Amino acid sequence: MKVVVIGGVAGGASAAARIRRLDEEAEIIMLERGDYVSFSNCSLPYYLSGTVASSSALIMMTPQAFLSRHNIQVRVNSEAIEILRDEKCVVVQEKDGKTYKESYDKLVLAPGANPVVPRSIQGAGNKNVFTVRNVDDICRLKEYVDTTGAKNLVVAGGGFVGIEIAENFVDAGLNVSLVEGADQIMGPFDYDMVQILHKEMMDKGIKLYLSSMVTAITETSVKAKKGEQELEIPADAVVLSIGVAPETTLAVKAGLEVGARRGIKVNHNYQTNDPDIYAVGDAVETFGRMNRQYGILALAGPAQREARAAADHICGKYHNNKGYIGSSCLRVFEQNAACTGMNEKMAKQAGIPYDIAYVLPPDKVGIMPDSHYMAFKLIFEVPTGRILGAQAIGKGDVTRRIDVIATMITMGGTLEDLKELELCYSPVYGTAKDVVNMAALVGLNVLYDRIRQVHVDQVRGLVESGAYIIDVREKNEYEAGHLKNAINIPLSEFRGRINEVPKDIPVYLHCRTGQRSYYALCQLLGNGYRNAYNVSGSFLGISLYEYFNDQAEGREPIVTAYNFK
Ligand SMILES: Cc1cc2nc3c(=O)[nH]c(=O)nc-3n(C[C@H](O)[C@H](O)[C@H](O)COP(=O)(O)OP(=O)(O)OC[C@H]3O[C@@H](n4cnc5c(N)ncnc54)[C@H](O)[C@@H]3O)c2cc1C
Repeated sequence: MKVVVIGGVAGGASAAARIRRLDEEAEIIMLERGDYVSFSNCSLPYYLSGTVASSSALIMMTPQAFLSRHNIQVRVNSEAIEILRDEKCVVVQEKDGKTYKESYDKLVLAPGANPVVPRSIQGAGNKNVFTVRNVDDICRLKEYVDTTGAKNLVVAGGGFVGIEIAENFVDAGLNVSLVEGADQIMGPFDYDMVQILHKEMMDKGIKLYLSSMVTAITETSVKAKKGEQELEIPADAVVLSIGVAPETTLAVKAGLEVGARRGIKVNHNYQTNDPDIYAVGDAVETFGRMNRQYGILALAGPAQREARAAADHICGKYHNNKGYIGSSCLRVFEQNAACTGMNEKMAKQAGIPYDIAYVLPPDKVGIMPDSHYMAFKLIFEVPTGRILGAQAIGKGDVTRRIDVIATMITMGGTLEDLKELELCYSPVYGTAKDVVNMAALVGLNVLYDRIRQVHVDQVRGLVESGAYIIDVREKNEYEAGHLKNAINIPLSEFRGRINEVPKDIPVYLHCRTGQRSYYALCQLLGNGYRNAYNVSGSFLGISLYEYFNDQAEGREPIVTAYNFK
């Protein structure tokens, strides 16, 4: 069998190596149009700050290593420019322009995706404008900044790549602004959660321009529009990271089908409509396990899994394609952020009835010196309690918590399963009842209608409408900062003062994170109150939710002072 693979990074290299492991006799040729194969795209931004000291460290395998270790022929600077399906061959163009034909029995397309560069942006082709996809791109960008002494950098696009580039340039000492068209960065997170990241970026000196569209780039500035407002932001260099589009040029030219999301259409074995041609990675539309639809997913882990599945099928093995759930993580300065499965927006879009648990427990036992709160949002289906997704942000180990939820989702777990999940514990790693167990307990209280809650995004409306809000924190905590119209009845006095709480109007309870107010709520419920609500996330959650917009928009705060501890 002769297999030709187009593209030599996450998808292509994984497919080629797996085929070799399964078939010692196969002839395997990997074509890559760039200078390098098997480099770490995901580490590219860290070269800008010197975290990755040299560009050569970004390259994981050389063509020579592929040949000596795996007997795979790698041809760099070799672009596949056409697939002749009738002849079962690929036309390859070398760097000097020479072309030749390479025949195949099976062909694997792993050409990745291309950064989107909107034609509508004037000056997008200027020499101070960059995109980041490979080693050459990052070297060009770093060299430009180093040699021109650029001081002001603008990143357009607040996804994973844009944020990583922004952070690394701050670490390298530049003034960084980030312009994002939506009203939030990081689409996979919900608006309420992402406010924590907005705050972190603002605190670390990044100027965030949300709901703003870049319209033009000059040698010294970026022009953008926020509604009717015109912005001009100083910019010596600009990085466009507005998103990527599947690379489908070859596939389209060869008459392979492309789906509604503009990715190459594949079946559950990653075969295109030509059964001898497979496609994997960022270039394809892949099955979403959560919404049962095909979509685009530009992540390295799924690209490698798809490659393995395609290789298995090529070699006569079967693969149960359960689809992707979408798990990802990101560091934003001191905050770690991770998410998996569905967020609220996706659950709404899919028409799945859901509710949420939002908790802010310590990530380690509180007396440990590096214990911090972790903001954790769990989304579950109503009435089944099936876990749909989660988001976690904090200074501690969010990925462990989100990986637990990803496992739960993959196994079809429910809140009851998560409540019972026995996780390892020591005070230096977590709490006896871990963050994820806590979220399940809160979720079950909500699911079984034991408590009713309001969310941090509803509190401003409550304050402005003069709702009856009780702050059950102790007096000194209240005095350090509180909701402008909250009444203070500390939990330690609550039993004795319960008669002060009116029965005929809705009552909203909060404390620092929602736990003490839950205890107070139980007292109210036990005393016949039916119209009482816990504020999930409570004062810490409210402070984190409100802060960025208060600062950025010059909005009047609903608190006398914030509390971020
Ligand atoms: C800066 C950055 C940071 C990232 N961080 C993360 C992260 O933290 N976590 C994560 O999961 N994902 C991350 N990703 C995404 C991840 O890198 C991609 O999802 C993954 O690399 C996709 O693999 P792929 O093989 O489909 O495409 P690619 O890795 O892009 O490889 C495709 C290759 O095909 C070559 N090619 C294209 N057309 C042809 C042709 N006609 N002939 C020959 N060669 C061709 C291209 O030159 C390219 O090298 C990041 C991406 C970038 C750019």
